[in-house]
Amino acid sequence: MTAMTNLAVIGDPIAHSKSPAIHSAVMEELKIPYTYSSFQVRKGNLPNFLKLAKEREIHGFNVTMPHKADIIPFLDEIDEEARRYQAVNTVKAEGGKLYGYNTDADGYTAALRDAGNDFAGKTVVILGAGGVVTTLARKAAYEGAGRVCILNRTLAHADAIAALVTAETGIKAESAGFDTEILNRYASQADLLINATPLGMHGVKHDFENLEFVHKLKKNAFISDLIYNPSETNLLEAARERGIPTLNGLGMLLYQAFLADQIYTGVTFSFADMKMRIVNKI
Ligand code: NAP
Repeated sequence: MTAMTNLAVIGDPIAHSKSPAIHSAVMEELKIPYTYSSFQVRKGNLPNFLKLAKEREIHGFNVTMPHKADIIPFLDEIDEEARRYQAVNTVKAEGGKLYGYNTDADGYTAALRDAGNDFAGKTVVILGAGGVVTTLARKAAYEGAGRVCILNRTLAHADAIAALVTAETGIKAESAGFDTEILNRYASQADLLINATPLGMHGVKHDFENLEFVHKLKKNAFISDLIYNPSETNLLEAARERGIPTLNGLGMLLYQAFLADQIYTGVTFSFADMKMRIVNKI
């Protein structure tokens, strides 16, 4: 081991990744000497990267698309979260072995907890049925949600994730479409409503056709948007105006990275504190 902590991120594409800025800011705050490199690794090229990683004495690397599942056969051990979702976003090299972790869902729950909320016993209504919902819907069930309801434009995608949640966790997940009537009905029952579609995201042309469903939410409901740019989507603005507590996607983005940094360095720190200290540097 050199005194320097050598870190990296791999993926394809990689140019727009926020990982270098986030992890560099954390290492600077922790005053740990580090290097952080980005590697564009095309699908199928993991063996070449792993050889290079060994030569360059890389101690840990973040894994993004399209390698989160493909990396698993190359690892000596993976943690419970990675095994659950068959996806790895964090790899630590130690004593000649590679250890895989998945901090995505735990990053979300940590952000939710810091906002004073959790999944336990809640009716969780998730909008969207893409990659992130495949993980988050299962996490909600594993964390004891009372009901998990997945609403999506393409019903078949919501059906597939609901079936997966039910088969894996025993919690009977529900799936439905995405029209105004359905959104209104499920919103009125939600304790926690999560937007996991890109609707309202900067650079995306589409937003919700209407936000009627926000007015159906119970006063003590909580609304979470996975989007962090803009920091307040029209959805979150409408919820805030009704006095409903909100959470944007920045916490999830940062906290999954902070969990990875704790794994790499063995140093623990307050996530809320670190978020405040680095938010202007990313
Ligand atoms: P994805 O796999 O591309 O899935 C997108 C989902 O949004 C699909 O269910 C899709 O429905 C739906 N959708 C897309 N355009 C729509 C429209 N015009 N009207 C209604 N539904 C629409 O994306 P993902 O990876 O799951 O990510 C989802 C969101 O979470 C994105 O906004 C992403 O930026 C955000 N995210 C944030 C973090 C974070 O750290 N904060 C992490 C991961 C993801 P169909 O099935 O019908 O296509």
